[in-house]
Amino acid sequence: MLASIPSASVIGSRGRPVTVEVHVSQGLPGLTMVGLPDEACREARDRVRAAVTSSRLSWPTLRITINLAPTTERKGGSGLDLAIAIGVLVATGQVPAQAVRDLGFVGELGLDGSVRAVTGAAPMVYALGTRVAVVASANAREARVAATGEVRVAHHLAELVRCLRDGEPWPDVRDDGTDDVDEATPDLADVRGQAVARLALEVAAAGGHHLLFAGSPGSGKTMLASRLPGLLPPLEGPASIEATMIRSAAGMGLPPGGMVRSAPFRAPHHSSSLVALVGGGTQQLRPGEVSLAHGGVLFLDELGEFSPSVLDALRQPLEEGVVRVARARASATLEARFLLVAATNPCPCGGGPPGSCLCDEASRVRYLRRLSGPLLDRMDLRVLVERPDVDDLVAHGGAEPTAVVAGRVAAARLRALERAGVINARLPGDRLDEVAPLTAAAAARLRSELERQRLTGRGYHRVRRVALTLADLRGESPPLIDDRVVEALALRVRLGALSGSVAA
Ligand SMILES: [Zn+2]
Repeated sequence: MLASIPSASVIGSRGRPVTVEVHVSQGLPGLTMVGLPDEACREARDRVRAAVTSSRLSWPTLRITINLAPTTERKGGSGLDLAIAIGVLVATGQVPAQAVRDLGFVGELGLDGSVRAVTGAAPMVYALGTRVAVVASANAREARVAATGEVRVAHHLAELVRCLRDGEPWPDVRDDGTDDVDEATPDLADVRGQAVARLALEVAAAGGHHLLFAGSPGSGKTMLASRLPGLLPPLEGPASIEATMIRSAAGMGLPPGGMVRSAPFRAPHHSSSLVALVGGGTQQLRPGEVSLAHGGVLFLDELGEFSPSVLDALRQPLEEGVVRVARARASATLEARFLLVAATNPCPCGGGPPGSCLCDEASRVRYLRRLSGPLLDRMDLRVLVERPDVDDLVAHGGAEPTAVVAGRVAAARLRALERAGVINARLPGDRLDEVAPLTAAAAARLRSELERQRLTGRGYHRVRRVALTLADLRGESPPLIDDRVVEALALRVRLGALSGSVAA
């Protein structure tokens, strides 16, 4: 009177195998569940009993003990319902044990016996290994992306039992397509003027440099940032798998092809909570925006409006490419390697129309320092975005489309990877002399900037990395010439100068 049914749970973006052991014995009727179930798991007993009786199957008046193994790990969510129900039916002889050999079950049960989709089906099905995965039909796409073995779907517990017990044919696995979310990335050809900001996007994509846009409202910062994912290389290999698992675990559905292959763009609102941004949660441990941006762009508009604790939490992912989140008895490490683009007003008054700002340099520096704190130092690129002028707006054609720029970006990334094994933004400071030496003129200019205190020691390294990316985009080999250093300096505007009033 014992059944053992494979299933899975999800923590963060990774599935963990769970074996549902059901033991049925004589004694006081009742159901005990052990093995660290969470709240949603504990509620399974009521859902499963209702589902079984609604399916015209019998619920035993016996003592039922359910153990979720391994017992050391907390089990979250409702995805174990289906395995628990099948376990009870096998342990009571209503389904032959032979019929469920080599099968794994992932799904929630409705009180009427319907089999419902769960969040995180892709990592859960992956955790089933080579077993045949049985899931809700709305989870079919996620299951097929992740499955090592065959995928079967079930709409209703009664139907599932007929397939298992009576050998009725399994329902067709159809991709219902209800979660089609293939957002088209907007094209750079639509952007008029903005030569400096366009170059900054190209450099950011080619070298992996984090970017700060300063500009008054209406200058087009969001429009520019949203075009950056189109310049990034498509996700391949492990990055594509990681991004796909993260999306599934976040309950976001998958793109039509199943796998996430284009660089994501995430733009969380400044009112976002810490959990929404970095992940976590009291019920199920879910990925946050930094992980959803993995392999793509995290855009923080109105940087100064984000809470300091939220911005501080970005330090770990920016340094390590992962974020660690923990709650009672569960912790997870989630991938979170993204390109950060932040946007801000240039000064306390917001900039306004050209020439209208009266903020002095000291108050502008204070404003930018305060709002972005620990992030500001990590921005290799800091540029001022101004409203395009009328000539640009009425000009016909001429703006380069995304595809052309992305071609240059891909070639530049390849140069960097072949030369040093990493993209330029991740080149350690102590390798710069070896990988990106300077001509005498370029070295003299940087020395002069340092002496005049227009550049900090940290900024010195960042400018050299950006200059290297600019050279890569032109197909030039080091040593870096003075022109590239001048361009790089222009893409790292001093804080006090990040205002329309100075340019005006
Ligand atoms: Zn101002």
